[in-house]
Amino acid sequence: MPSLRAAIILSFLCVPAVADDYRVTIEASNLRSARVEARLSPTLDGELLLLRNAADSGIEGGWERFIEGLEVWDAEGAPVVVETVEAGRFRLSSGPGPVRVSYSMRLEHDQVPNLPGADELAWARSDTVLWSGRALFLEGAPATDIEVTFALPASWRATTPWRIVEPGRKFRAEDTDALLDSAWIAGEHFEALLGEGPDAPVRIALAGPSAISQSALVVATVERYLGVFGELFGAPAEGRLLLVAADGSFWGGGVMGTTISMLLGGPLNASTLPTLRFITVHEAFHLWNANFPYRGRDGTEGLYWMSEGTASYYTLRSQLGAGDLTQQDVLGRLGEEVAKYFEALGDLSMVDGGPTKLTNYDLIYSGGFVASMALDIAIRSRSEDRHSLDDVMRSLHSGPGRELELDATAFGELIESTTGISVRGLLDCCIVGAKRLPLVDLFARLGLSLRLDGAEAQVELDPRADAAAARRWAGWALR
Ligand SMILES: [Zn+2]
Repeated sequence: MPSLRAAIILSFLCVPAVADDYRVTIEASNLRSARVEARLSPTLDGELLLLRNAADSGIEGGWERFIEGLEVWDAEGAPVVVETVEAGRFRLSSGPGPVRVSYSMRLEHDQVPNLPGADELAWARSDTVLWSGRALFLEGAPATDIEVTFALPASWRATTPWRIVEPGRKFRAEDTDALLDSAWIAGEHFEALLGEGPDAPVRIALAGPSAISQSALVVATVERYLGVFGELFGAPAEGRLLLVAADGSFWGGGVMGTTISMLLGGPLNASTLPTLRFITVHEAFHLWNANFPYRGRDGTEGLYWMSEGTASYYTLRSQLGAGDLTQQDVLGRLGEEVAKYFEALGDLSMVDGGPTKLTNYDLIYSGGFVASMALDIAIRSRSEDRHSLDDVMRSLHSGPGRELELDATAFGELIESTTGISVRGLLDCCIVGAKRLPLVDLFARLGLSLRLDGAEAQVELDPRADAAAARRWAGWALR
C-alpha cells in the first residue's frame, strides 16, 4: 500500500493533462467583434483573469469594459456561476478544474483615447484586424502548448508569432505568456514568412495600401538588420518575431513579447520612409535588448533610458553602416537628439523619469540615446579603442551580464568589469543624477564638434580633431 505522500503524488500525476485551447471566430458582417470559445483551467483561486498590463500606462477602464456574454460550463457541461470580484477578475463557483468558456469582445480600443495607443491594444480596418493577446484572451492557471484556431471570413488568414500548425488558421503558443504578451493580425493583409523551415522564425504582416506598397523594402530592411544585430550580439534573435505595420492616423510602435506593432501615420514617401525604417530597426534591436536582466532596485523602469537609448543609438550606427543614412543625415540627427535632451533636462534624472517615460519622452528617448553615446565614447577613448559599448551589450545578452540584477549600479560595475573603464562619474552625475552630460568634450573625442546656439545644437566633423579621434569616428558606424 503506498504511503499517503506517494498516494498524493500519484493522484496529482493522474489529473488528466488538459491543454488549454482557444477558438476565435470573426464574422465578415462584424469585424469589430471576436467570439472566443476556450477550454482552460481557472487559477488556484478559481478565477479567470483579464488584467494583464497594457504597455506601461495601462488601458483606461481596463480590458473588461469590452467583454460581452461571458458564460462558463464545468467539465460535465453544467453552467457555472461567474462573479466579478473586481475589474478583470472573474470568480467561478466551480473552483479549480477545467472549464469551457464562451464570450465576445468588442473591438473599440482604437475608438477611445488611450496612452499606449491602438498599436499595442487592438485596431480594425475595413479588411484587417489586430488584437493583442491580452486584450482578447481570458487566462486561468498558467498553461503550456496552447492551441489557437481561427474561424475567419473566407478570404482571410491569421498571422501570429506562434508555432504554425496550419498556415493562416491554427497555431500553438508555447505558454500563457506567449499567448497574452503578443499580438496577431487577421485579414487580407500582405504576409511574408522569412527564415528556414515551415515554422518561419520571422513573419511580416502589412495592412493598408500605403504599407503594402513598401513590402519589398520592409522585407529587405528586416532581413538586413536582423543580420547586423545578430552579428553584434553573436546570436540570432531569440524565439520568433512578428512585425506588423499598418496604415494609421498617427506614427506609433510598440513591442509585445515577440510582436512588433507599428502604425504609419502618413503616406510612405521620401520624407516618411526614413521614419518607418528607423522604427523598424529600433524595434528589431529590442528583440535582443528586451531580454536584458532588468531587475535590481531601479531595474525595469529605471533603465528605460538604457533600453530605449541603446535601441536608437545602435539603429543610427547601423543605418550609417548600411548606407541607409549618409554621414550628413547622422550628424543632423545627432544635433536633434542633443537639442531635445537639453530641452527636456530639468530636475528629473533619466533613472527617475523612467516610470513616466511616456510623459518624459524626450528625456528618456533622446536622453537615453545621448547617454548611450556618451558612455560608448568614454569607453572607446579611455580604453584606447580596445573596448566599446558593444562589449557590454554582448555581455548583457549572452555573457556574465545576463546573470545580473541589473540596475544603474550593476550596469556601472558591469561596464568596469567588461572593459576595465569606470564610468561611475558619468552615471552618477548625469544619468542617476540630473546634471548635463559633458557632451562638448565627449563629442570632441569622437572627432565631432558640438556647437550650442540657444535651443539648437549643431554637430559637425571637427577639422581640428586629432588622428585618434578621427579614426574613432571612422570606425563608429556598425557594419
Ligand atoms: Zn523602443
